[in-house]
Amino acid sequence: MGNQRVYNFSAGPSILPLEVLERAGAEITNYQGSGMSVMEMSHRSKVYDKIFVDTMAKFRKLFGVPDNYKVLFLQGGASSQFSMIPMNLIGRTGKADYAVTGNFSTIASKEAKKYGEVHIAVSSEDKKHTYIPAQDKIVLSPDASYFHYCANNTIYGTEWQYVPETGDIPLVCDMSSNIMSRPVDVSKYGLIYAGAQKNMAPAGLTVVIIREDLAGHELPNTPLMFNYKTQIDKDSMYNTPPCWCIYILGLVMDWLEKQGGVAGMEKIKHHKAAMLYDLLDSSKHFTCNAEPGSRSDMNVTFRADNDELDAKFVKEATEAGFTNLKGHRSTGGLRASIYNAMPTEGVEALCEFIKKFDASI
Ligand SMILES: *Cc1c(COP(=O)(O)O)cnc(C)c1O
Repeated sequence: MGNQRVYNFSAGPSILPLEVLERAGAEITNYQGSGMSVMEMSHRSKVYDKIFVDTMAKFRKLFGVPDNYKVLFLQGGASSQFSMIPMNLIGRTGKADYAVTGNFSTIASKEAKKYGEVHIAVSSEDKKHTYIPAQDKIVLSPDASYFHYCANNTIYGTEWQYVPETGDIPLVCDMSSNIMSRPVDVSKYGLIYAGAQKNMAPAGLTVVIIREDLAGHELPNTPLMFNYKTQIDKDSMYNTPPCWCIYILGLVMDWLEKQGGVAGMEKIKHHKAAMLYDLLDSSKHFTCNAEPGSRSDMNVTFRADNDELDAKFVKEATEAGFTNLKGHRSTGGLRASIYNAMPTEGVEALCEFIKKFDASI
């Protein structure tokens, strides 16, 4: 059809594996002889039920979810979890600890204040969120209901390289932008959540992994739809789930399995990121935003000597088929989001482009 695909470095919604899009395309009007599209099916039909159950099983297997955890397929985005988490979890003691390491964890901590006492256990604001604080900087409240942090800061390009140690305080983690990119010991967490549109599926699906015993402590005014218990009791089918996104998640899980699962992906993504960071560090006109040791393998934030050069870079890159390299409006600069689905060739090609641009100045 002559429609050239670009290398899309968007921070989200972002690139999906081509193989997944092609399979979804092939099945779009008639899913496996059902005579209809997955978009047109009742979520209670037999054919859709199989898609749901299979996707759930693949997700649990690939992410290594222990039996005492429930996986929920919800709507509302990761942002809804900023409210849903305190509504459901803060009631045990009325207090929660938050690590503030970027934009989304700031919003999450502010939202939680509506529901209880929030203590900022650690913050990287002193250096404009260019680093992840060390464990010994974290000041825990012994009676916190939970400790919340964001594993990968999509806008600032930093990523926690360790799991914070919080003793008996349940860990709650926003993994929206690095879920499925590395193995995670789920048993260390009380709750993990992620919007699907970075590493898993199209926008519209939010995955929540919750240790069963943490549900059922919701505040009295918690809306029915915002109560984890409602969703657990009905296996994410209390109302219509995001059916199409769940189907695509299943296809992405098949693709991920072929990459060697999360362990295979960890090697691939780390190789891609190291290639880009090494080149930027050795360039004449580019600087990385995040400190070494805190750098994200998913969102590489950097900038050229000045704003004009950043703009020139974005313009020329776009013309050459590398899109969405402009940094977030709150930080400026440049950002290459290299999620799981970005092929290694895409990063190699971007490196070549950066090298030439750097030499041409
Ligand atoms: C994108 C993102 C969000 C917001 O997700 P929505 O689905 O748009 O609500 C929250 N946290 C992180 C880490 C993100 O990357």
